[in-house]
Amino acid sequence: MDPSRIYLDNNATTRPDPRVLDAMLAVQRERWGNPGSAHEEGRLARRVLSDARGRVAARLGVPPSGIVFTSCATESSNLALRGLLGSADTGAPVHVLATAVEHPAVLEPLRALAGEGRIELELLGVDAHGRLDLDAYRQSLRPGRTRLVCVMAANNETGVLYPVREIVAAAHEAGALVHVDAVQAIGRERVDPAVWQADLLSLSAHKFHGPRGVGILAVRPGVALEPLLRGGGQEWGRRSGTENPAGAAGAALALELAMDEAEDAVPRMRALRDRFEAALLDRLSGARVLGAEAPRNACTSLWSFEHVEAEPLLLRLDHEGIAISVGSACSTGAHAPSHVLEAMGLTGERAVGVARISLSRESTEEELERVLAVLPKVVERLRRVVG
Ligand code: PLP
Repeated sequence: MDPSRIYLDNNATTRPDPRVLDAMLAVQRERWGNPGSAHEEGRLARRVLSDARGRVAARLGVPPSGIVFTSCATESSNLALRGLLGSADTGAPVHVLATAVEHPAVLEPLRALAGEGRIELELLGVDAHGRLDLDAYRQSLRPGRTRLVCVMAANNETGVLYPVREIVAAAHEAGALVHVDAVQAIGRERVDPAVWQADLLSLSAHKFHGPRGVGILAVRPGVALEPLLRGGGQEWGRRSGTENPAGAAGAALALELAMDEAEDAVPRMRALRDRFEAALLDRLSGARVLGAEAPRNACTSLWSFEHVEAEPLLLRLDHEGIAISVGSACSTGAHAPSHVLEAMGLTGERAVGVARISLSRESTEEELERVLAVLPKVVERLRRVVG
């Protein structure tokens, strides 16, 4: 990749850390056996997998048998939700609460389960800054009837953080289990998932400088899941298919690096992001930061630019060597605000110019200075075209 490019779309994916790549390559070269085989090659691969599982488990606060390696967070959350709620017994639908701003990887399986009559799905709204009303949430819990609560630790579009610990405590008090989508929290905030006491927790290694194609589901002891994939019975029967020791080793190392380096990286990212936001607000009129009033993770900066469409903005910036993403999807010619923007009350014209800039621990002051030099000019130029 061209090293002069400025990559600021880290909520979509992150560059794999070279230390992770080295560790994975060593496994691919030397430990390529099938972990299910009884011979030396199998044993060596099995040891890699079990070492990775133990390290991930230690970070997430579950025993090693509670870690399921999957292909992505989408698979992890599908396994968590369908595995818990999709089983054959079809009594009255169980009550499930989820924030309205969950990722589609959570919302879509829930909607499917609701469509099948297995759950009664209740979505919890957010305010204009993306915040959840904790009291309203507590009142929505139906003790003894709510089976599951779904909350994300940090939102992928806004970076807004949700009070996971309080949400889990209230759910447990009401007898409900909790699924936490922690994809946008690891390495982006100083978090310790072990203290959350989540019953189910989904992660994706590529969001914290690990490999693409490796997800993690952490399951607390005693939580029974029906598998999505049946076959050879790997991962304690929860996810059949020959395991991926190199991916697991890469994910384990990436998780350790992300959590350890968060101590330094998170305050540095936050300072960079905040300075960037203040400077851009200063240099450009008709711009505002979405979710600014809410506690946010350190890497996300979601902008609404007046009288500009985000799509051409993305393309012009891409041409200038800067990668960002847009906040509304343009389909069939009409701009549809994302469900997150909609939940925050941002619709119509105001949702058209929403762009997301997301940093990583690798982002630098120089890179953001360059964006500050380029972005206001590009926005002004686009406004003149529209005007
Ligand atoms: N949850 C959140 C909050 C995300 O941001 C994403 C990806 O953007 C996912 C889940 C799904 O992750 P993956 O694409 O690795 O399945």
